[in-house]
Amino acid sequence: MEENREATTETKFLPIEVEILYESDQLFTDLKKIEQYIPLSLFMEILEMRPDGKFEILKVKNKLVLQPNVKAGETIDVVYTRFRKHRVVPEDTKKADWRVYYGPVKDQGKHEICWTVVAAELVTAIRWIKGRENGTEYSYQELVDFVFPEKGKLNGKEDHFCYKLSIVKALRYIVQHGIQKAEDRPFDGCKEFPPPRVLLHPDLGYIGAVKSLTLEEALIRLQTQPIGAAMPIFRPDYDDIKGGIYSGPMPRDSMFCGMHAVSITGAGTDDETGESFMYVRSSHGVRLGKDGYFRVSIDVMLLRTGEGYQEHEANYFTNPTPLLVRFCVPELLEEDEEKKIKEKTAEKIRKMVQR
Ligand SMILES: [Zn+2]
Repeated sequence: MEENREATTETKFLPIEVEILYESDQLFTDLKKIEQYIPLSLFMEILEMRPDGKFEILKVKNKLVLQPNVKAGETIDVVYTRFRKHRVVPEDTKKADWRVYYGPVKDQGKHEICWTVVAAELVTAIRWIKGRENGTEYSYQELVDFVFPEKGKLNGKEDHFCYKLSIVKALRYIVQHGIQKAEDRPFDGCKEFPPPRVLLHPDLGYIGAVKSLTLEEALIRLQTQPIGAAMPIFRPDYDDIKGGIYSGPMPRDSMFCGMHAVSITGAGTDDETGESFMYVRSSHGVRLGKDGYFRVSIDVMLLRTGEGYQEHEANYFTNPTPLLVRFCVPELLEEDEEKKIKEKTAEKIRKMVQR
């Protein structure tokens, strides 16, 4: 009897289906597609970064920049992967706007001096913010002339003696020597033989140190001062940015043209899309962006995943890279230390005059 009853109960169980925790008809098809452009081991590295939002693999067609062995008109395909890693902008950072501590937007024209403009402007801003000066602009001519002039002579150009260098190197020069006021050494081009550095007075732009920051540290530091950084210039994206958010290559013919030094004067999050960005001040005149300022996404990560690239791009985007990198800031000396250095400079000037 006992056995019989059990059997009857069993037949009455309703079949309960397994609980599906995840399913996809597309996953393996998608992975096969992705694998054509990214080795899956690299794709796993991207996944480990916990990306959010849209994932894209894109191809641009570039005219090859002329090299000795390249025929005019040859093109290459460059493949990038773009994904987003959302960065939270702290509320106190959103309140910061350092534009008022900058003078007029500069236009570097055809000179390669963005790093000098940014370094000089960062010193203007921090000295103004901390009440050491009141908007005094400093001489980026001095930085072009003296930071690494040998490099300018080797740049292979006949009509230019300017050169690419980093903001950090310019700021380190300023730590050592101070920087003259712009009115004492105004910009008048890059020269093979710049006139010597003659100081008329000891009122220089002094700083005590240079500090490099990560993106996360920069987002906090922005609460107290503007920041220097480097960004890739993709053209035509850069020239057409206006009020939009710069996100790397968008049109078919988009081309990486090199890294560019900029100042960061604020940060925020787009109301509509939720994308985080930094406000960037450039040195290509007021017609760029909005009055010389524009927004750059700090969520976008860019990675070159194809075989093709321009020679000047070889060292860039080989790892997932944000669009703003190499953050740095000048730090001031304590006021009494600055006074001592100023007295020393005054003493040097007196001795020079006596000679
Ligand atoms: Zn030049």
